[in-house]
Amino acid sequence: MPSYKAPVRDARFVINEVLRIGDRNGLPGFSAATPDLVATVLEESGKFAAEVCAPLNLSGDQAGCQRRQDGSVTTPEGFKAAYDQFVASGWGTLSQPEAFGGQGLPHVLGFAFEEFLSSANQSFAMYPGLTNGAVGAILVKGSPEQQAAYLPKMISGEWSGTMNLTEPQCGTDLGLIRTKAEPRSDGTHAITGTKIFISAGEHDLTVNIIHLVLARLPDAPEGTRGISLFIVPKFLVNADGSLGARNAVSCGALERKMGIHANATCVMNYDGATGYLIGEPNKGLAAMFIMMNAARLGVGMQGLSQAEVAYQNAVTYALERRQGRALAGPAEPDEKADLLFVHPDVRRMLMDAKAFTEGMRALSLWGGLLVDLVHAAPTEEERQEADDLLGLLTPVIKGYGTDKGYDVATNMQQVWGGHGFIVENGMEQFVRDARITMIYEGANGVQAMDLVGRKLPANMGRAIQVFFAAVDKECAEAGADARTAPVAERVGKANGELKAATMWLMQNAMAKPDNAGAGAHHYMHIAGIVALGLMWLRMGRTAAVALDAGAGDTAFYEAKLTTARYFAERFTPDAGALRRKLEAGAETMMALPAEAFATA
Ligand SMILES: Cc1cc2nc3c(=O)[nH]c(=O)nc-3n(C[C@H](O)[C@H](O)[C@H](O)COP(=O)(O)OP(=O)(O)OC[C@H]3O[C@@H](n4cnc5c(N)ncnc54)[C@H](O)[C@@H]3O)c2cc1C
Repeated sequence: MPSYKAPVRDARFVINEVLRIGDRNGLPGFSAATPDLVATVLEESGKFAAEVCAPLNLSGDQAGCQRRQDGSVTTPEGFKAAYDQFVASGWGTLSQPEAFGGQGLPHVLGFAFEEFLSSANQSFAMYPGLTNGAVGAILVKGSPEQQAAYLPKMISGEWSGTMNLTEPQCGTDLGLIRTKAEPRSDGTHAITGTKIFISAGEHDLTVNIIHLVLARLPDAPEGTRGISLFIVPKFLVNADGSLGARNAVSCGALERKMGIHANATCVMNYDGATGYLIGEPNKGLAAMFIMMNAARLGVGMQGLSQAEVAYQNAVTYALERRQGRALAGPAEPDEKADLLFVHPDVRRMLMDAKAFTEGMRALSLWGGLLVDLVHAAPTEEERQEADDLLGLLTPVIKGYGTDKGYDVATNMQQVWGGHGFIVENGMEQFVRDARITMIYEGANGVQAMDLVGRKLPANMGRAIQVFFAAVDKECAEAGADARTAPVAERVGKANGELKAATMWLMQNAMAKPDNAGAGAHHYMHIAGIVALGLMWLRMGRTAAVALDAGAGDTAFYEAKLTTARYFAERFTPDAGALRRKLEAGAETMMALPAEAFATA
């Protein structure tokens, strides 16, 4: 049976020492987030994740969700009790606005909890995760009446939320949506159509489910300019807030799938269901993007979370299992064999995982802080800068974070050898659960195109220039200390590759857009390496300062400096190779006709 312990010490290091949220106590919610409170929230939420949700991960995977004849869906044994405990403890309210019953703490804290919950049990974490996305859209686009009717109960967790975009003929290309919304005389709309792959579409955890549904009004323009967003509650809500009639929305089937078995992935049928327009007609995509951007950061966090839990279990195994002898001679001559841990190739996989997970945690939590700064930074200039960086980093966190998260989960399975392939050991579940993160919330190829096609050129490249400047500044500062100088040198070089790749795209992709498409994946990975490099520079410098100040916990800080060097040595060289791939352009990739792909 796999185990999980929340990486509280590491999250505290990032939040309190690297991001130094204590220095920002002028911002709303930050003054309450003292180092002591941060420590308590991380400790207690980590305990909830590890003690209540992690024990249900393997059993939930094996039992899966079940749909009954009447369309109702049950989650695996133990999920309802755990969810009730989640609601009673208020874990879903951490970073939600106080006006609707939230605790108003910084998002960066909520992000840390999301990682813990998702490592412990990704299927479970998705139920409140989707609610969070729906809350985000109603907060920004909902009318005051809609906010009052839905938000308090969604934020408390009494009701949950979903996002309904996908249809059989419409995945990435949302312009193909067919679900119809017919206006009724009372101002509501009749929603008719079929949505597929809807996570948490139906379940027994909450008494009401608030679906956010993309649909077309009559005479709406073709394509994405004709999509509107509707609130479609499972049970209609009476004026006094009590539950009213059952709405005409139901789960027609559950998908059988590779992983996240304990999360209900539903075919949802809308048969003239009552829907309430949210935001303006035909502007639904903009509203949905609010959900999708939040969800993309959350999915990036899922990539990290599966890598982290797989890493923890691989370390445990490598420190128990004995096979072969250390290359330099027996490490423990009294034993019949040495631990797996002595073999450099096993260390390679473990160090790759450590360098990725700790770097990715810092990057994701920085993303959480940027969300806070976008809303609450004191000056317009700071809010703008945070918004630019967040927009740029979102596809990197989602795309690079989940590509690498999956790689790491697979390598951690490899540490277990054949035993990693055996179901009851739990390692193969981490790989299966990690796999979906590269697909949903915009497949990673689409994230790469979002980065290259939209985020890079926006405002004449303003965001990437801010990013380059941040890396250059960090390199210069870290270069002045012998302990971080080698890291600065290599990260600086990788940043140079990113600059060159950016320039190449500017010169070669305007006239020939296939060059952008052909290089987008590579570009996203170079950007991921540099972004993690920036995090390792910040963490390395923080560790050096702590050691100089005699902060104690020397082993922790020394390990940060060593891992920063490992990252610089083993991750940054890939940036050069990726740039050369990008600069090969689209020619050979697009040259062959479809017939040439036939092998028979
Ligand atoms: C378990 C699970 C849960 C899900 N949960 C939800 C949910 O809650 N709500 C919801 O609405 N949807 C959900 N989805 C749907 C998911 O978001 C889509 O599967 C995903 O967006 C991709 O759409 P598609 O499967 O139709 O693939 P397609 O759009 O057909 O794409 C297939 C491949 O082609 C690539 N591709 C497509 N277009 C382009 C392009 N223009 N440029 C470059 N590459 C391109 C894609 O990257 C992908 O690799 C879920 C899916 C699964 C499997």
